[in-house]
Amino acid sequence: MLRSALRLRCPRCGVGPLYAKPFRMHPNCRQCGLQFEREQGYFVGAIYINYAATVAIAVPGFFLLDAFTGMTINQQLALWVPFAIIFPLLFFHHSRSLWLVLDHLFNPAKSLYGVPPQKSPNLEKH
Ligand SMILES: [Zn+2]
Repeated sequence: MLRSALRLRCPRCGVGPLYAKPFRMHPNCRQCGLQFEREQGYFVGAIYINYAATVAIAVPGFFLLDAFTGMTINQQLALWVPFAIIFPLLFFHHSRSLWLVLDHLFNPAKSLYGVPPQKSPNLEKH
């Protein structure tokens, strides 16, 4: 499941891609029909993951550079402020993917709603 997340694939089937294009998700898995955004504001959890990852790199990074290099505070800020802006953008896709995997692991779609997940429009055409 974690491998699906890293490959930006559906957490349930591992086949359907999450993204139609950069920063634009499919509403459902094209393979198994799993609805990705279960409710409005669903991906706020992904923002927490993104924030945690940014802090988990920047804070130890700051102290490591402070301990082992002669960088001044201004040089450190010139490094870490752009990092804190750019990294969350680069990590955006994977933070949502990781959030989907975590939610799917602890809250599978079926047990949460008691109804089968929606079928993909592609699968309904016969
Ligand atoms: Zn799927």
